Amino acid sequence: MAQEQLYACAKLLDLEDDVVRMLENPMQQVQVSVPVKMDDGTTNVFQGFRVMYNNVLGPAKGGIRFHPEETVDTVRALAAWMTWKCALLDLPLGGGKGGIICNTKELSEGELERLSRSYIDRIWKFIGPDVDVLAPDVYTTPQIMVWMMDEYSKLSGKNQFGVLTGKPIIAGGSAGRGDATAMGGMYTIREASKELGIDLSKTTIAIQGFGNVGSSVATLSQEFFGATVVAVSDSKGGVYNPDGLNIQEVIKHKAETKSVINAPNTQTITNNEVLELDVDIIIPAALENAITKDNAGNIKAKILAELANGPTTPEADEILYNNGVHVIPDFLCNAGGVTASYFEMVQNMYMYYWTAEEVYERLDKKMTKAYHEVLYASKNHNVNMRMGAYAVAVTRVVDAMKLRGWI
Ligand code: NAD
Repeated sequence: MAQEQLYACAKLLDLEDDVVRMLENPMQQVQVSVPVKMDDGTTNVFQGFRVMYNNVLGPAKGGIRFHPEETVDTVRALAAWMTWKCALLDLPLGGGKGGIICNTKELSEGELERLSRSYIDRIWKFIGPDVDVLAPDVYTTPQIMVWMMDEYSKLSGKNQFGVLTGKPIIAGGSAGRGDATAMGGMYTIREASKELGIDLSKTTIAIQGFGNVGSSVATLSQEFFGATVVAVSDSKGGVYNPDGLNIQEVIKHKAETKSVINAPNTQTITNNEVLELDVDIIIPAALENAITKDNAGNIKAKILAELANGPTTPEADEILYNNGVHVIPDFLCNAGGVTASYFEMVQNMYMYYWTAEEVYERLDKKMTKAYHEVLYASKNHNVNMRMGAYAVAVTRVVDAMKLRGWI
């Protein structure tokens, strides 16, 4: 899929074959065997990967996934997407991604720590604050980040906070990181509303997914932007109140019962109904493939803001474009996370830390600029916003490769 998208963009930009050959595969792909002494005294050997897709714009940046079904193919595609996302936000960073094939639910805390440290022992020569910078992703936590950072610091003989991001604040993390993905998405929604002549403070919003990102965007959209969230959902179904939900009450209800269903003053609706409500904005913030050719035609919202990764299938994209739904594509809409990670790296290098307000102010500038560049490219090339985003990102990477004499 990642390669297909690149080929489509190459066609749009009329890129030469040698340029495509440089971009269709990663620059470096490392596979390591990671030995771990288990609690029962035996040694288990896990397989780990780290892919540096392209570093022409700066050190590679991307998360580490701990997953039983991890494959190097997935890691490679995700590393490609990180390359485009960082380039789109005009960050001085390339794209990378890593993973270990393991099931964290079957590991004790001690085994998890030894696995994290052993992985760094094997890859430390390939990473570093100005080489390749890691971050949390699927089933990796701030604690795992601190173990890895500590191991890397020991091996290199000095504190190296900037080798990875997503750290707790006391261990070199950034204020504002927790809400950065949702806040970044809201800045793009604000700009899209202006473009469509909609007053954001008078809009209604429905959100699919009520985890880290979904609950955060629900809170921020009401508190900072004055919008009205009328529906949210989780894996068990959705809740709706046409006059607006009390988000703090829904958060409390979910904490107590593990679901949003039956939160006070709400009526229950299905997951699909949430996406098809007559609202101004829908925000998928759950899993991939939520909007397909089967439901895309029923979407009534004017703006679809993809905070989730990959929520819209290519066929659905086509339908939405033809129906005039303004889609803010995932690698623009949810790029607030990686942008705040970049700010964390900068603060680590400066050894000077910003307030959450300073982080948000800088995030706003980055997201707003990127939104308008994508909008301009999509109008200029007469393509949807997703292809517009590709055009901006790929052009930056190609221009830098040409300037540096790589092609
Ligand atoms: P999370 O696990 O905290 O939350 C996921 C939510 O989706 C849960 O509430 C779950 O119940 C719900 N869900 C699952 N299946 C559903 C369904 N069929 N219908 C409705 N809800 C369903 O995850 P998260 O960190 O909030 O991430 C959500 C999305 O945002 C993912 O696609 C992720 O890749 C993307 N994203 C997250 C970040 C970040 O900073 N956390 C950054 C970029 C992109």
